[in-house]
Amino acid sequence: MMLAVSEIFYSLQGEGEFAGTPSVFLRLGGCNLKCIGFGNHYQNSDIIGCDSIYAANTKFSNEWIFFQNSENVISHIQSLNPLKFDIVITGGEPTLQFKNPILLRIISHFLQKGHRISVESNGSVNFAFDDNLRELYFTLSVKLSNSGEPFEKRINLKAIQNIIDNAKSVAFKFVLNAKMCEDGSGIKEIKDILSNIKLKNNRIYLMPQGISEEELDKNIQKIYPICLQEGFSLTDRIHIRIWGDKRGV
Ligand code: SF4
Repeated sequence: MMLAVSEIFYSLQGEGEFAGTPSVFLRLGGCNLKCIGFGNHYQNSDIIGCDSIYAANTKFSNEWIFFQNSENVISHIQSLNPLKFDIVITGGEPTLQFKNPILLRIISHFLQKGHRISVESNGSVNFAFDDNLRELYFTLSVKLSNSGEPFEKRINLKAIQNIIDNAKSVAFKFVLNAKMCEDGSGIKEIKDILSNIKLKNNRIYLMPQGISEEELDKNIQKIYPICLQEGFSLTDRIHIRIWGDKRGV
């Protein structure tokens, strides 16, 4: 058994409820979705997908590190000399690896050391919770039609409910562009999803789609009125404003 890791880096969380927090990002390789609709050309190539395509798409697996034990991942993280940090397990879709004993040992280690561990997931994968996984803070970025994925592939209500019912905390983060705000399709899709699950006071964030400040600014102008109208929270993408779409930061 190995753990496929796209990258590990120390940075600031750029999005959501812990935005601004020093964090070590453990970005795992592999995803069950492709999200071609986000339309990002990887380094001007003809490979199109999300801004983490190098972690999601197995075409990039020759760049991944395949760790054979948890100790090597833990010492890699310690070598970054992070301070007062969260662990952010992201991807790709990290919950695909929630049966992997190497990952489970890493989670157990950092929980015992008192670190908050958050998970960034698309919410479409069903998995079983053990005592350690129940201690994790989830952000569910459930994909909408702008991802380009078919509804039945991106929306798994049972998987979402399983995470709401078992995780320590769950926040939702929906990615919207200006067009979806203007034609009302974005809020309709979000309400359809939320009305079919049992929420537990979960915070709902709306986030602008974009990998440049220009795109973020354009989309955020259309999103903030929806937040005020619906009582949703707004999250920016701080890392894009600081570092653009550079990898590993
Ligand atoms: S689910 Fe997330 S990581 Fe996977 S392809 Fe879509 S945006 Fe990328």
